[in-house]
Amino acid sequence: LSELVETILSQHTSDLNSHRAFTALKEAFSSWSEVRDAPVEAVTKAIHSAGLSNIKAPRIQRVLQEISPLGEPDLEFLKGMPREKVREYLTALPGVGPKTAACVLLFSLGMPAIPVDTHVHRLAIRLGLISPKTPADAAHDRLEELVPEKAMYTFHMNMVTHGRHVCHAQRPTHEICVLRTDCDFWSALQ
Ligand code: SF4
Repeated sequence: LSELVETILSQHTSDLNSHRAFTALKEAFSSWSEVRDAPVEAVTKAIHSAGLSNIKAPRIQRVLQEISPLGEPDLEFLKGMPREKVREYLTALPGVGPKTAACVLLFSLGMPAIPVDTHVHRLAIRLGLISPKTPADAAHDRLEELVPEKAMYTFHMNMVTHGRHVCHAQRPTHEICVLRTDCDFWSALQ
């Protein structure tokens, strides 16, 4: 559940800002049921550093409400479910898309999945793994067809690292890139 909330907080902001907001949220409330039942203004204030807090606060409260309208919200039960059932459950929650669901699957439940963030999406297009018109949400299915399950975690982490340090959105450093010979974007420049 923490991974789910933190991933919602990370939408459209940096890791640093979303982590600050998550820490502030945990300090302001002692349980997820307190977050769910608090006035929305109090949650909005606590997560201010994440940006778009007036959208994210009601979204988090709706998700907690949906998971458990009474008592303490908990997602432990997902551990015993098949991967596709978990994905189906998570993406049916309000405001939870394929990337957020994939983060929970991969990082919290240890199940194979590929979260497609901005780096993974950009790189997959440049390398020719998906067509340039494939939206990020649709890229999840395509990449999960291409990558063997046991390699999904490494694939995700390496794509993010490569996107951050080499294949930048603006001015990618082709000259030091080890993927040049496999890259459609590079080939088109020659
Ligand atoms: S060759 Fe250039 S565009 Fe292709 S993956 Fe490397 S840095 Fe990115």
